[in-house]
Amino acid sequence: MSEIGVIAVTAAGRAAAERLAAAWPGEVEVVTAQRPADALRSAFTRCRSVVAFLAVGAAVRVLAPLLADKRSDPPVVCVDESLRFAVALLGGHHGANELAQRVSGVLGCAPVVTTASDSAGVTPLDAYGADLGFVLDDPGPLARVGAAVLSGEPVRLEGATGWPLPALPGNVSADLPEGEAAAVIRVSDRADDPAGPRKTPVVTYRPPSLVVGVGSARGVTAEEVGALVDGALAQAGLAPASVRALATVDLKADEEGILAAARERGWEVVTHAAADLAAVEVPNPSEVVRSEVGTPSVAEAAALRTAAGAGRGAELVVPKRKSAAATVAVARLVPRGRLAVIGLGPGARDLTVPRAVAELERASVVVGLDQYVDQVRDLVRPGTRVLASGLGREEERARRAVEEARGGAAVALIGSGDAGVYAMASPALDFAGADIEVVGVPGVTAAVAASNLLGAPLGHDHAYISLSDLHTPWEAIERRVRAAAEGDFTVGFYNPRSRKRDWQLLRALEILAEHRPAETPVGHVRNAAREGERVTLSTLSDMLAGGVEEVDMFTVVLVGSSASRIVAGRFVTPRGYRWKDVG
Ligand code: SAH
Repeated sequence: MSEIGVIAVTAAGRAAAERLAAAWPGEVEVVTAQRPADALRSAFTRCRSVVAFLAVGAAVRVLAPLLADKRSDPPVVCVDESLRFAVALLGGHHGANELAQRVSGVLGCAPVVTTASDSAGVTPLDAYGADLGFVLDDPGPLARVGAAVLSGEPVRLEGATGWPLPALPGNVSADLPEGEAAAVIRVSDRADDPAGPRKTPVVTYRPPSLVVGVGSARGVTAEEVGALVDGALAQAGLAPASVRALATVDLKADEEGILAAARERGWEVVTHAAADLAAVEVPNPSEVVRSEVGTPSVAEAAALRTAAGAGRGAELVVPKRKSAAATVAVARLVPRGRLAVIGLGPGARDLTVPRAVAELERASVVVGLDQYVDQVRDLVRPGTRVLASGLGREEERARRAVEEARGGAAVALIGSGDAGVYAMASPALDFAGADIEVVGVPGVTAAVAASNLLGAPLGHDHAYISLSDLHTPWEAIERRVRAAAEGDFTVGFYNPRSRKRDWQLLRALEILAEHRPAETPVGHVRNAAREGERVTLSTLSDMLAGGVEEVDMFTVVLVGSSASRIVAGRFVTPRGYRWKDVG
């Protein structure tokens, strides 16, 4: 089945279809037929999603008789002939909203999204926690609970603490008493609802919090294992949909009865070495098992170890139970919080990568410098806690972000350019332990943004050097400048010059000038991809003769190597003199 079926009727549409095909190699099939209606019908029945360069009305008329269910129908996006709008027509929450965004990214049109929760910016409930593995127990009450969330009615949130979930708006609260709630959002691995039957609509999500540990004698049947685990879960009141894996010892990796029981229930099988299981402290060890398998516990130890590995800790919720030839135990994990370290790029919104936007939307806490937080306020979901602080509070921000993640939140720590380049990622990861999940989203760093404005100065080996001697002694900086000079690297200077640090850049350029010609190109860009952008192309000798005066802390400076040249007003560093021959 092809991924994206594209239908075009006019020459303009066909040209745009080709652009999509070129942008997404291997994903696009341009579907053709004698009549456009037939092409659309064919794409709708065969492809995973559809982009139609057709009027919305025409697409609706053709597709209406084919519509079945939004979960199984492919999402459809319509784009107008003059490429102004990409309309998410069908299956908004099932891929069309994202596809409209992607199409817009390639063709430069505006995505048109009309699903209620997305247009209000509120976290959509149909995918709540989906990337953590949450499973919706019964979609029945979803529409009513979603409407309560969107219309600002008081909604009670149960059991979500500790899971790094996206923010929900202020009318959704964990502190709301049951009696005052118009609806309930419940995160629980308990099969039964301890509150009993409720008057308000409840939507229940099953988090992947449980691990079933199993041990057995050789030749155990799938029926015996199945009956034992089902019984253990049922008696403990636990939901099978919350089981993330079945765990056992390596020796049982080929025990067909165990494998089949897991397969029938859709559970992944995880195995551990006996020595690793022997190191797990369990309530019910057995010397008999130790002498046979090399660990005093299989079921309890495997469940605990797998759960602890997937979370930041684990507790046993069902101690070992036995049947004739099998043992079972169930562990529940303590979820890990999540820290996303996000580079926003140099400034312009279209130089922020889509993943950064997606991470901001899935955060419940955003930490950053005031000016960067202001830059993305429109991207964060209603209900997101925003912790902004001023310049020079890096360490405090890093600590705060890690602490929030440790508490189970989904934290976005944001910075300009790339967050790992002279920025927040390293102090944050210095504090972060294995007890939180960390993801990094790359951003376009200042030197790369500037390089694209100047030409191609980074075409060969280059070095970035920060001239800030706030945290690094000048001797160390000078040693690196000297090494870059001797190595003939193109050099990108960050933090080049401020009112208080006004001599360092000149000194660094003097060192470089000892090793490369006076006419070596030097480009400096102030506020790259931001308001007030200024691009200056100069030479080493001009910079030494007073050009440095134009440089400040909003500027990045790129100094060419001895091979760099100015070609047609552009700064070019050749790939290397042998490159042309090699092809
Ligand atoms: N993490 C950032 C760098 C932070 S250090 C990044 O990856 O870009 C701060 C220095 O970066 C500034 O003093 C300046 O030298 C440079 N810088 C950051 N953004 C810039 C921009 N938009 N234009 C020019 N220089 C910039």
